[in-house]
Amino acid sequence: MATTIGWRFDNSYTRLPELLFTRHNATPVQAPQLVVVNEALAASLGLDSEALRSTEGAAELAGNRVPDGAEPLAQAYAGHQFGHFNRLGDGRALLLGEHLTPAGARVDIQLKGSGRTPYSRGGDGRSALGPMLREYIMSEAMHALGIPTTRSLAVAATGEPVYRETVLPGAVLTRIAASHIRVGTFQYAAAWGTEEDVKALADYTIRRHYPELEQRADRYLGLFEEIASRQALLIAKWQLAGFIHGVMNTDNMAVSGEAIDYGPCAFIDAYDPATVFSSIDSEGRYAYGNQPRIAAWNLARFAETLLPLLHRDEEQAISLAQAALDGFADRFRHEWLAGMRAKLGMFGEEPEDEAIIESLLILMKKHRADYTGTFLTLTLGKPEAEDGLFADDPDGKQWYQLWQERLGRQPQPLAEARERMRRSNPAVIPRNHLVEAALDAAVERDDYSVMHRLLEVLAEPYAHRPEQAEYAKPPAEPDPGYRTFCGT
Ligand code: AMP
Ligand code: MG
Ligand code: MG
Repeated sequence: MATTIGWRFDNSYTRLPELLFTRHNATPVQAPQLVVVNEALAASLGLDSEALRSTEGAAELAGNRVPDGAEPLAQAYAGHQFGHFNRLGDGRALLLGEHLTPAGARVDIQLKGSGRTPYSRGGDGRSALGPMLREYIMSEAMHALGIPTTRSLAVAATGEPVYRETVLPGAVLTRIAASHIRVGTFQYAAAWGTEEDVKALADYTIRRHYPELEQRADRYLGLFEEIASRQALLIAKWQLAGFIHGVMNTDNMAVSGEAIDYGPCAFIDAYDPATVFSSIDSEGRYAYGNQPRIAAWNLARFAETLLPLLHRDEEQAISLAQAALDGFADRFRHEWLAGMRAKLGMFGEEPEDEAIIESLLILMKKHRADYTGTFLTLTLGKPEAEDGLFADDPDGKQWYQLWQERLGRQPQPLAEARERMRRSNPAVIPRNHLVEAALDAAVERDDYSVMHRLLEVLAEPYAHRPEQAEYAKPPAEPDPGYRTFCGT
């Protein structure tokens, strides 16, 4: 008996000015086959994963059949790519529509790798299997770490080759997002539309993501402040987790505050703010330590699109935007410090906290210590196991002493501090060598068991279960030459 998937589409994006999208269907593929389905996510969306796994479900998630109620479209957007402004748009993705979940949320259902669109420029509109599985793993790991992110519902192999430097198997990813409205969407409206188009997009964004602002007279300033604030929280969480996005172009910054577009992203091993993994980021624009600055730069580009809505007088508008941008820096610092205190088991605030935190980072950089591993070592209470950093280095010993004294001064017993650390320091992150091994088995040998085991462990990063220990280890040899590649 055929079960129904359970889609409940209501496509509000189609009611926006036509400038912002083009209705377009996916290009069918030869042999759709689902290779991963996210059962837990499907359940939370009110979708039947058995029906998703059926022939009909695979056809829908590969783009061969339009789901009931879907109205596929390619979204228009622009973006500063490595600082250069370009007209872009969904060149290999389609928004199927917005699905209403049982909990009453509205989420975008997007296919990525679904064929050419009017925005494809020279591209083939397709994605390779490896990078789509990589996005699946990374986004699900980020979600489990407690970082706002788009999610991955499924990956469908297409049975068709894609031509990159070599011939690779093709795939389509189903991405779930609060929305796909980007800073670049506003830039597109501002550059190629009218003030009315920007206003329509801003009103839509307020209604969809920040409805509490609708009452406010200065709601567009409120919109900018709220988006800046959510970005500050997001980037603080990235920094605290050791995550490098890798391609923070303005088209890859979502106004919902979710992390989006997992291309060349990776987690740092050895702590160094200058770390870059992306093969095309030769100048380190998107290095780990630069991410807060780049987020502020992107937000400044966003503010420029809103100026006419902020105030009739341009100078007034600029000073309002500037004050809100300063708010980003403050919120980021606040969130980052709060997160660092939690990682170190600190309750309350003391003036010396910042110095304790900063000097730990200096020590870690000096020893090229594994970022996640160092915090885990401290959490598990065996710093003597960490070569050099706390045992051999006098500066390390002194730091350890200061930290212990700080914990000793707070009223909470040490056991409580330890518990706070366990909840704030993941044992397992999607380390480069683990992700590569999972992708290798899946893509080269059609063996998905390695990836499934990894996904299981990544789903509970703060569980600190003994059987996870194997996954918590840093690579035997940190690989400073590890390179990731964009959107292949
Ligand atoms: P990204 O680097 O993934 O953020 O993508 C930047 C832009 O390039 C977006 O407009 C994408 O839609 C487009 N793009 C990336 N890969 C392809 C492809 N294979 N075919 C067509 N457009 C693409
Ligand atoms: Mg259009
Ligand atoms: Mg992108």
